[in-house]
Formats: sequence, structure tokens, C-alpha cells
Amino acid sequence: MLAASTSGKPLPGGTLEVRVHARKGRTVHTTRLVKAGEIVLVEAPTLLLVSPDLSHTTCATCLRAVDPTASLACAGCQRACFCSAACQQAAHATPWLHSPPICSAYARLAALGLPADEHAQLRFLLHALALRHTQSPEAAARYAALMDLVGQPGEADRALAARFAPLLAEALSGAGVPPPALEVEEMATLLVKEQLNSYGVLASPQQQQRQQQQAVAAAVAGPASAAQKAEAGTSGKAAADGDEQDEEDEEEEEERMLRGSAIYSQAALINHECLPNVARYDYFDCPPPHDAPSWAGLAPTSASTCTSGAASAPTGGASAGGGGAPGGGASALPLPAGVPGPTHVVFRAVHDLPPGTELAQSYVPLHWGLLERQLQCREVYGFACTCPRCQTESQWSDEDEDSDDEDDVEEQEEAAGAGAEDMEEDGDGVAAAAAAGASAADGDELEMEELLRPITAPPGEEGPLESNYLHLFLLKYMCPRRGCHGTAAPPAPGSGLLECNVCGGSRSEQEFLRELERTRREEQRAAAAAAAARAGGRAGRR
Ligand SMILES: [Zn+2]
Ligand SMILES: [Zn+2]
Ligand SMILES: [Zn+2]
Ligand SMILES: [Zn+2]
Repeated sequence: MLAASTSGKPLPGGTLEVRVHARKGRTVHTTRLVKAGEIVLVEAPTLLLVSPDLSHTTCATCLRAVDPTASLACAGCQRACFCSAACQQAAHATPWLHSPPICSAYARLAALGLPADEHAQLRFLLHALALRHTQSPEAAARYAALMDLVGQPGEADRALAARFAPLLAEALSGAGVPPPALEVEEMATLLVKEQLNSYGVLASPQQQQRQQQQAVAAAVAGPASAAQKAEAGTSGKAAADGDEQDEEDEEEEEERMLRGSAIYSQAALINHECLPNVARYDYFDCPPPHDAPSWAGLAPTSASTCTSGAASAPTGGASAGGGGAPGGGASALPLPAGVPGPTHVVFRAVHDLPPGTELAQSYVPLHWGLLERQLQCREVYGFACTCPRCQTESQWSDEDEDSDDEDDVEEQEEAAGAGAEDMEEDGDGVAAAAAAGASAADGDELEMEELLRPITAPPGEEGPLESNYLHLFLLKYMCPRRGCHGTAAPPAPGSGLLECNVCGGSRSEQEFLRELERTRREEQRAAAAAAAARAGGRAGRR
């Protein structure tokens, strides 16, 4: 199964190593048996960025969600806020955080009235520029880490960079420093690396609620950025539906907004599969300990130099975050032992991983159907997924005779293994994906045909999964809370629980087995009904 090299470069921590695979490039593997629930990777961020839309409720230094009434707003630009005096001071003192030149550039950038995704990309370029031009070993190391990420610019990236260049110069024109030089080619490289490697950080439930109320009030539906779509799944849907369904908001699937994005250079090496074996957890809203003077989201070295003695007035964060209760989402859970701070990302094994296992994370939510996943992988990440799950599900769709028929797409989605109770939502998701595909290009029909062809394993790589295994996997590791669609892993080795990485909810093995039993009964009923309705129905495929 492991065709390429079998030894590689160790990563810090002693659990993982990086190998090079002929087709995939760099891959990350376990070097020993890892038990389900074990933490395999803990890493400090290379760069954190706040979404322009949520700038007034997300700490610009550490991404903690804050109540607007309790946060420290940046007086300079009114486009950033901080959870604490410590974070404010750290931001001011660190050139690539919210330093005076960046503050002034934020204000000018906001005045340009750009779409949210372009606004966010230009902010990213500002911070990357600051790293590039700061004379310090730490800045140089961070910039080198950015440039080491996978991704080479294409013509579209170069065109975007060329369009951004004057905007960036305009943003920097009032910064009191000469606009630093950044070649279009380097900007294009940075942009594509950011797109391919940054994680979307979900808004807290409180931010989500506030923003949705505002969105409904303003009845404005901006285009979701690629990153938002990647994490959220249903672009624009919640905003469009919102005003009629206020009462059902907690029940219905919500568009998950992003408070920001984060780049972790080691985590970025973990490749995508639609059935992941590790789950990502973040702790941006974890309850601060009483005696911690600073939660500034920096690498330990700079945190100690920039923020020591600065936190005489802890504000906002503690009261705003939700105190680790499940209602605050998974980000508000307490930091696990061994995780240095709230801006570190944590990856946990979903199940046991034998030595040599390649780590796989899913770049898209687990409940997405085959078509939606294929489109997202192609359009955002630039590859066609040939993972075992996609192989299996493409065989399912192969049994459908008329693949252009919308019914068939829905059935394919149904077959994609989401629980029966999710069928309606999944239908919407596919409609959205189909709509996205339909508006994409002229070569549509061709692309759709290509997308619906059976997917086969690349030479030497793993073949399709048993349908039954796939179905069980999704039932077990996809959060059962309606509309959540998070991924669940045990919170610790040997734990009898599975903890969701989105809502923070847990369920026990017993609860899972009961759910399984209930689903079996539903399926039997559905199968019986289908058999009665038309001979040779599809229920048998499951
Ligand atoms: Zn903060
Ligand atoms: Zn500012
Ligand atoms: Zn796949
Ligand atoms: Zn959940």
C-alpha cells in the first residue's frame, strides 16, 4: 500500500515523519502505533487572520471571539479589536500583527469597499509583506514557512496579483513607511499558497447568531469566499432562508461563518481524503486560566518578550467566550494537557493508526456528497480526488442510468451515506453544488460527465472501500447533532466517548450503538417501502 519511500524526515513530537510520494508530493505518516483519540500533532500558527466581516468581534492577535461590548476596539482603524490589553500590546509591538503600519493600511483598505474575499486576501498580503520586510529571525522563519507551503501560481493567480498590486500600494500609502517592494510573481505565489493551505476558523455560536441577525436585517448576501465555502458547505443559503425560519434556526442547517483563517505549516502537509483518519480541533475560545498573564496568540518566544507584564487588565475574553460550555462550540472546550496555548492547532486520531499510516484530513465537511466534494477539490484545491471513498461512491452513481437527471444526483447523494434524516439538507447541498457547477464555465456538460465517471485508484494506491464500512464510518464519526456535520474523535485514548470538533458535543459508544440500531430499523422500513414502490429499488446498494 505504501509504494513510495518508507522513511522520512521526522516532525517534532516523535510521532510523525514526512515522506515524499511520487503523485502526492509530501505526505505525513505515523512512526508508531497511534491509539484512537491520541494527539498526533500540536502546532503554533505561522499566521492568523481575522475575517473582515467579523473584525469587531474577533481578537486580531489570538482569534478569540469577543463580545463587542467587552472588547478593546482599535482606535486607530476601527477595523480590529482585541480580547485583552495583552493582545492589544502584543499586536502593536509585533510588526506582522496589528502594528501601526498595518493598522493604517487596514483603514485604507476598508475605504476601498472591496468584496469580502478580496478584502481578506489583501489583508493576508499585508501581513505576509510585514513578515517579509521585518528584520528578525522569527519573521524570516515565518515567511520561509509560508513560502515552503505547497502551491505554484497559475495565470489566474498572476492576474489577480496584478490587479491587487495597486490596491496594496494604496493601502500602504499612508503607512508612514515607503511601500515595500513585492513582485507580482511573489504576490501570486503567496495568494495561491494561502488559498491551498489556510484553515477556515469557524465563528463561535455567539458570533454566528449575531452575524446572522445582522445579515437578515440588512438582507445582504455577499458572495462567499472559497475558504468560506470550503468550511461552510452551503454558501448564502442560511442568509437567504433566515428571515422565514428564525424560530427553526437551531434545528435547520446553518451556514457556518468563519471568524478568520489560520496557517499551520506542518498541518498543511497532511493530505486530503474524504474519509479522514485525523480530526482538527482548535481552542481559540478556551477558558483562560486564572494565573495566566497573557493569552497572546504567539509562539512562546515572542509571547514572552512582547507581552510580559502587559496584562494588568484582563477583559472581554473570559466573560465573552462562554466558559467552555458545550454551547460555546468545540473552540470553547478547555485546553487539553500538553497543548501550550489557545492558538495551537491539535490533530487527533479518529481511530487506531498502525505505524506507517499516512495521515489524512478532509478539506470538506464529511456530509458532502461525491459531486460536491469533487467540485470543491477541483475548483479550490486544484486536484481530482481519487480517495477510496470517492471510488466507492462513484461506483454507486455508476448504477444510475441517466446521470444528467437531477433525481439521480439526489439519489447519489442519498447513497453517499448521510443519515436518512439528513436527506433533505443534502439535497439542498447538491443543488448548490450543481448550481455552482452550472455557472462555472462553458465546458460544463463535459465536466459533469467527467465528474460522474467511475473513479479508480491511481496505480499502486488503495482501492474502493466496502460500502458497509463507509456507511458505518460516517454514522460513527460524523457528529449526529442536526446541522452540525462536525467530525468526532475520542477526546483521549481509551475514552469511551467521541467528541465533535465543531459543536464540542460528546456521545458514548452506547449512544452510537443505539443510533446504529435506530438507523438499521429506518433502513429496513425504507427498503421495504422502496421494494414495494418499484421492483429492483436501490435500497440494496447500501
Ligand atoms: Zn486575544
Ligand atoms: Zn487598527
Ligand atoms: Zn475523495
Ligand atoms: Zn457536532
